Amino acid sequence: MINIILFGPPGSGKGTQAKKLEEKYGLVHISTGDLFRYEIGNNTPLGLKAKEFMSKGHLVPDEVTIGMLKNKVDANQDAKGFIFDGFPRTTPQCIALDEYLKESGDDINALIALDVDEEEIVKRLLKRGETSGRADDSNEEVIRKRIAVYHKETAVVYGHYEKQHKSSTVDGMGTIEEIFERLCKAIDSNI
Ligand code: AMP
Repeated sequence: MINIILFGPPGSGKGTQAKKLEEKYGLVHISTGDLFRYEIGNNTPLGLKAKEFMSKGHLVPDEVTIGMLKNKVDANQDAKGFIFDGFPRTTPQCIALDEYLKESGDDINALIALDVDEEEIVKRLLKRGETSGRADDSNEEVIRKRIAVYHKETAVVYGHYEKQHKSSTVDGMGTIEEIFERLCKAIDSNI
């Protein structure tokens, strides 16, 4: 199995790149943000719970997020591997993911972080908010809060996989194709 964590602040292009990587490497793309938005769209109890946190730019509690992630992995038993996008974001999520993959003899091959300038991120997200309908993309204060949350809580995830010699950073500025090429190089040297 090939398991990649695509990492980086909100608006760093993870979703766009994950779709391209999914196609090239035949992996299943799992975005916890997309899964939450799907649940919200269907007004499920999980969606209602997630919405409370997401609308403020806060992280959804670990037990909710981890349970949902495991269900999604379980539903893709035949997958060649996964691209995790937006997960893990906390140390308990890292530990849960490592242990869960280990149960079937697998592990994370690489964590690749996209490095993007903060002002560029705010610009990109506000632009996305004009068309995406995402409430958390339309408000600059919420966007800056999400970036701050990323730096404060999520940066520990980079450190967690750095200890396992699996973390690397790729320049996330440039065209979609340029960034894709850099990501492929990083993945090819790790699988
Ligand atoms: P994203 O689409 O990855 O930017 O995620 C949008 C929002 O969903 C985040 O701001 C969080 O509120 C929530 N979320 C997504 N993934 C996670 C996660 N792994 N842990 C906690 N909250 C998450």
